[in-house]
Amino acid sequence: MAQIRKNDRVKVIAGKEQGKEGRVLKVYVEKGSALVERVNFVKRHTRPGGKGSQQGGIIEKEGPLKLSKLMLVCPKCSKPSRTGRRVLDDGSRVRYCKKCGEQIDS
Ligand SMILES: [Zn+2]
Repeated sequence: MAQIRKNDRVKVIAGKEQGKEGRVLKVYVEKGSALVERVNFVKRHTRPGGKGSQQGGIIEKEGPLKLSKLMLVCPKCSKPSRTGRRVLDDGSRVRYCKKCGEQIDS
């Protein structure tokens, strides 16, 4: 189970995008990377007549960031924090914030 999941709020802790925060749009588990909303924009060239585009040009899109450079921002205490795992009475596993101890997943 990945530490970081889609729709989590994360902070970039290393690299040129360090300090930025955003929502996780997609996690590529096998690649160990994720797309974070409005972070790490990369320019992509598109061709005229290509799929879904009428005109060619340059579009900016989020590029993947290594999961190791991201840290979850706790929704309860709003601090970047490591997460732990907890097993509930019904057997389901949830993540919790190691800073404030609050459960992150519902
Ligand atoms: Zn917390």
